[in-house]
Amino acid sequence: MILRKQLSIIDNSAIDSEKSTKHHGIDQNAVRDSNLIATTAVLGFCYLNLHQGKPMQFSYNHLHNHDVKGDEEDKNNLQRCVDKLNQVLQHHDRELSAQVTMAETPPWHPGAAITGSFHPSEESFPQRPKPVVTGDQHCVAVAELALEEVATNTDLGVQGKGAYTGLCIHKDGKGASITATAQVIAPQSEHYGQRWIPSQYQYAGKHQYTHEQRPWGMLNDGEEIADMVQHTQPFDQLTRENSSHPYNPDTVAGYVHGMTTAIYNKLKEEEGSPSEAKAVHEIAVGEQTTKLASCLPCALFMYATGFKPSAIHLGRGDSWAPYYADAAPADPLKPREVNDVIAEANQKWMDYVQECFAKGLPLMQTAVKNGWVEKKHAARFQLLQDFVADHPTPPELANLFLDAITVHDKFTGKIMAVFGLNNL
Ligand SMILES: [Zn+2]
Repeated sequence: MILRKQLSIIDNSAIDSEKSTKHHGIDQNAVRDSNLIATTAVLGFCYLNLHQGKPMQFSYNHLHNHDVKGDEEDKNNLQRCVDKLNQVLQHHDRELSAQVTMAETPPWHPGAAITGSFHPSEESFPQRPKPVVTGDQHCVAVAELALEEVATNTDLGVQGKGAYTGLCIHKDGKGASITATAQVIAPQSEHYGQRWIPSQYQYAGKHQYTHEQRPWGMLNDGEEIADMVQHTQPFDQLTRENSSHPYNPDTVAGYVHGMTTAIYNKLKEEEGSPSEAKAVHEIAVGEQTTKLASCLPCALFMYATGFKPSAIHLGRGDSWAPYYADAAPADPLKPREVNDVIAEANQKWMDYVQECFAKGLPLMQTAVKNGWVEKKHAARFQLLQDFVADHPTPPELANLFLDAITVHDKFTGKIMAVFGLNNL
């Protein structure tokens, strides 16, 4: 990536010179850009599906999990966001008959999983969850072992908040790929286009790392996450490598979620095109991860590659990233086909993000015209349109979306900020 080092995501202005204490001291305009970009993508994603007669549904946490108060607040916020998204969608296209809906996720239990369902004819959300364990007895035994391993092995991968682990049962039933969230650094190659990095930032954690000490976009305030996997090998095995990661400044960190790697694995196994009904899973690991729904960035990747999520949430997808085939050190043993499959899946994802922006921008324009967008955000909209006109290709727009989610917040938080729903 070539880095675009500037105050805000889409320009270098600091109109009000306000710093955001919540976001590592970056400029408020960068936060507004992030909110606008993320909300535009969500609007486009909804419209793309509803317009084709396909359902669009966002899920809130099952209300009997342990954090009932937080869950209820999340549900109320999601309701506000969904109402506003529907208002914009309906106003923009009065012939749109369907609406974005809401649903409660199933109750969590150890080993509970989210499905990515590759069933071309099955679109409705209730059809999507598939059991992890199917097929002959040997396959069942392998799947159960893998599930038990993920659910009970506290040494495995990340166990904290958002600790989802990807699971892909091999089609011969003789094994399974288990892949936790992995931290990657955006590759320093022109091939992947441009990424944004704030001119200045300072993490809030114990060491208060600055832009001279840590990459941008790191979770955990730039502190090391002890059990974070740095990068996965060709995704066959979850490996927990020692973090000998060079924390170079002037780089951007990203996180490849388990669902993404499970999809790469399945595509690799199927040589790029699953011919029949297939499913991959993501398992909520440990006590702190109980939300049985895919994050929005994963959902976009899943739709792009044909694996429909059993549920989608509008919570966090902080610093989500795809895996770049050459982001890991060159491995002469790695078969070339793996890189091809990854590159092909990434291209589909970039094309899909471009489509979301193409559909989302006119919707956001409708919202701005109707005075539904908070004033300081509305003032950035023309700049966003100009930026997109100057950077219209799929990799450029995919990078713009990735830039937006390096400013960490729930998607509901971003949508509420854009539409001024916090002040109601
Ligand atoms: Zn995810």
